[in-house]
Amino acid sequence: MNRIYRTPLTMAVALGMTLTLATAAAAQAAKPAAKPSAPKSAAAQAAAAAASQIQTALNETYAKFQNLQEGKNADYIPALAKVDSKIFGIVLVTTDGKIYSVGDTTSRVSIQSISKVFTLARVIEDQGPEAIENTIGVDATGMRFNSIVSIEFSQKSLGGPEMNSLVNPGAIATTSMVKGDTRDAVWLNLLDWYSLFAGRPLTVDAEVFKSEAETNQRNQAIGALMYAYGYIKAKPDQATDVYTEQCAVAVNTRDLATMAATLANGGTNPVTGKVVMSAKNVPYVLAVMATAGLYDDTGKWLYHTGLPGKSGVGGGIIAVAPGKFGIAVISPPLDDAGNSVKAQKAIREIVARLNANPYAVQPRSAPAPAPTR
Ligand code: GLN
Repeated sequence: MNRIYRTPLTMAVALGMTLTLATAAAAQAAKPAAKPSAPKSAAAQAAAAAASQIQTALNETYAKFQNLQEGKNADYIPALAKVDSKIFGIVLVTTDGKIYSVGDTTSRVSIQSISKVFTLARVIEDQGPEAIENTIGVDATGMRFNSIVSIEFSQKSLGGPEMNSLVNPGAIATTSMVKGDTRDAVWLNLLDWYSLFAGRPLTVDAEVFKSEAETNQRNQAIGALMYAYGYIKAKPDQATDVYTEQCAVAVNTRDLATMAATLANGGTNPVTGKVVMSAKNVPYVLAVMATAGLYDDTGKWLYHTGLPGKSGVGGGIIAVAPGKFGIAVISPPLDDAGNSVKAQKAIREIVARLNANPYAVQPRSAPAPAPTR
C-alpha cells in the first residue's frame, strides 16, 4: 500500500478536527524537550486521534445508510441497469496520502460524468482558464445534465456563453478541445491523464462503452447542435464518441477518492507523489464543480456540504475539501436528478462529522469591552 505519512500533526490541523488537541501538541512540540521522545508522541497522539475520528465517521456513516433502499440504477444506458445496486463503498484520501475506507472499495463502475471534471482539467492545463470561460462558459444552466433547451438558452447571440463543462453539451464541447491529431491520440491523452489522477492505469468497461455508443442518439444530437452553434469547431461526431468512451472508464471507490484528493492537494497526487497538474489551475476546476457538479441539484448539495462535488450516473460522487482530503462514494441507485442517493447522504454526513464545510467557522472571540470608569 502506498501510504505517505508526512507530518501527522499537520494532517490533524488540516482536517480542522481535534484542533485543541493538535494545538496543545504543537505547543508541546515547540518547547525544548526534556525527553526527546515526548513531543513526538504528543504529535503522534494528535494524529492518531484525527485518524480514528475519520475512520469512525466512515464506519458509522456506512452503517447508517447501508440498508437504505431509495433510488434506482440509471437504465437509459442499458448496461448500467445491470450493475449490482448493492455496491456501497466509501474512501477518503487525505492530502497526506493516507487512505481510509469502509465497504466495497474494489468493485468498479463506469466513471460517467465524473470524467467531465478531468477532461475540463486537461483543457485548462493545456490552454488556460480563459479558453473555457470564453468559449463554453462557467455558469450554471439550472437544467438537467442532458438538456437540449439549455443549448438554446446559451447561444452566443443571446449574450452567452452561459454553459459549463460539467453538463453534456459543455462536456462534449470540452472533449472536442482536447489536443491530439487523431481520435486515438485524443483518447490516449485523456486516458493517461485520468490514470495520473487515479495513481494507476485505468481501463474502459467495453460493455458500457458499447451499450452507450449504441443508444446515445441524444448526445449525438447535442454534439451536432453544439457544432451548429459554433461551440464545437470540428469533428462533432468524434467529440461525442470520445466523450462516450471517457464516460465508460472503469473506476472503484479508491480510484475516485485518489482523483479527488489530487485536486484537494493542489494537483499533486498525494498517494503517488506525482505532480499531475499545476496548482494554479486547480481552483478553476473546483469552481465549476461547485457551480454545476450535481447538475440542477448543485445548489442543494453546496447548501449542505459547502464542497465542490461531482456525480456520475454510474453511481459515484466525489467531493473535494481543498487542502484537506478527497472523498468518494459509490452506490448505483440514483435520484431523479441523476445523483446517487446514498453517496449524497454519506458525504453530507461525513462532511458534517469532520467539520469539513469551509463556510462553517467558529467566530473569533469578541474584543473585550473597554473598561468603564
Ligand atoms: N455518459 C452519460 C451521458 O452522457 C453521463 C451522464 C452522467 O453521468 N450524468 O448521458
